[in-house]
Amino acid sequence: MEQALRSELTELIGLIYERGWAPGTGGNFSRVLSVDPLRLLITPSGVDKGSVKPEDLLVVDEMAQVVQGAQKPSAETWLHIPIVEECGAKVIVHTHSIWNTLASLTPGSLFTINGLEMLKGLTGVATHEHTESVPILENSQDVPALAETLRKVLRSMPDAHAVLLRGHGLYTWGCDIFEAKRHLEILEFLFEVTIRSRTLEP
Ligand SMILES: [Zn+2]
Repeated sequence: MEQALRSELTELIGLIYERGWAPGTGGNFSRVLSVDPLRLLITPSGVDKGSVKPEDLLVVDEMAQVVQGAQKPSAETWLHIPIVEECGAKVIVHTHSIWNTLASLTPGSLFTINGLEMLKGLTGVATHEHTESVPILENSQDVPALAETLRKVLRSMPDAHAVLLRGHGLYTWGCDIFEAKRHLEILEFLFEVTIRSRTLEP
């Protein structure tokens, strides 16, 4: 069971790397193994996301401490925990793509998307008339404090599908590998179309 979860997560990471969404060792990826006690399979710090192997993944607890594995966890492991606890996510993907970084630079605290058919790829969205508001958090190197801010934002926006960190990247998630991958692909599409459409002639 755990071996299958390790394999499917590393396969997804490889696909994401190929799309150019996790360059230069950027990003981190996790999979819930158990909720109580919390055990999370997660990528180690500083590894090339094009060559992560199933056995490279660490197991961490609810305090972001390693319980299995030899490598160091990323500081951003802290940000996965409130997403599991507040959203019930089972798979979390954090990517540093060009389009999600551009989206994160939008002034204000929300990136809004509306009027696009592809919004229906987000779970629970049934019409292109939906307005999706993706919260933008100010980036910080104090990751435990940022995790607490993230927890408050997720509590205040229970329908959120994703969160942006300013000048940094995207967190999105799903109840399984399929949903997390779909949300990531849909959001990357929506960010690019929304930003590119701003330059269209009226
Ligand atoms: Zn990051």
